[in-house]
Amino acid sequence: MTTLITLAPGADPGPAARALKALGLWVTPLSDGPQRGFSVDPPSPPVALDLIRGVPGVAAVLQSGPIHPKVDGQAGRAVPFGPRPAGPALGAAPLLIAGPCSVESLATAHAAAATAAAHGATLLRGGAYKPRSSPYSFQGHGAPALGWLREAADAHGLGVVTEVLSEDGVAPVAHAADVLQIGSRNMQNFALLKAAGRAGKPVLLKRAMAATVEEWLLAGEYLLDAGAAGVVFCERGVKGFDASTRNLLDLGAVALLAHSLGQPVIVDPSHATGRRDLIVPLAAAALAAGAVGVMVEFHPDPGGALSDGPQALDDAGLAAVAAAVRACAGDAP
Ligand code: PEP
Ligand code: MN
Repeated sequence: MTTLITLAPGADPGPAARALKALGLWVTPLSDGPQRGFSVDPPSPPVALDLIRGVPGVAAVLQSGPIHPKVDGQAGRAVPFGPRPAGPALGAAPLLIAGPCSVESLATAHAAAATAAAHGATLLRGGAYKPRSSPYSFQGHGAPALGWLREAADAHGLGVVTEVLSEDGVAPVAHAADVLQIGSRNMQNFALLKAAGRAGKPVLLKRAMAATVEEWLLAGEYLLDAGAAGVVFCERGVKGFDASTRNLLDLGAVALLAHSLGQPVIVDPSHATGRRDLIVPLAAAALAAGAVGVMVEFHPDPGGALSDGPQALDDAGLAAVAAAVRACAGDAP
């Protein structure tokens, strides 16, 4: 929402600016022209319009409508998210989502579900359809893997979150999953967002690797507008300049969504760093920044993983993440 404050002809902008700042507003003067006044900068807290109008010299307060009303509407609320809702101020332990990068077989799905459940995860993750940079890389086992994931999750009392890669895939993925995942590469695939939203399920919406926060929120608006039961935002790192880590984890955006906007946000430190040695500290940092949970990749034999082996935790690594998550219980905003 954009807010502009205009001044009456002849009004002195100096005292008006001081009075507006005293109300807590961050204001920037509009460039000099016939209509003098201020724009209200985004970090400003909400202030009652009557208080602004009461400032000597203020002629009018102009506000554009919200640009993502449905996302705004879920602010501060618990959002459906499979077995346990996601939301700020629930006072519950943070959510843990865990599983392999890709679902490799029924047996490994069962093993992963058993380990994830033992460590307190609520959702089992794993890709049946993998978005790979190279067409020659493993693309996922497809439809059979959806069945393996569902069967394994059911056997261990877990929900399923898995990526939907195409419009054609929405129906089978929605049939198998409690939560649809929109991957980073598809955050602005608007046809897919509409189709995924129409499934009426909750969606885990990954941030594209070069998307602004506003673009991310607008992608969430597409999903909610199409009928998604709720949107949980997932920060998974943006493109950085330094190859030391796979991506650059934007914890500022996490804090902004959680604390300023009241949105449920999950952090994926696995894709954010590409390094298993950084996942525990960044999971803890994510929760301290206001994330309602973390999503991590693990594999019984990381060296043998068909995708993303370097970032896969082994079972002991997952135990360490789970301990960090438990230690942060109650820290969510
Ligand atoms: C994933 O979580 O399986 C994945 C492919 O992640 P991203 O879309 O963040 O790259
Ligand atoms: Mn992966």
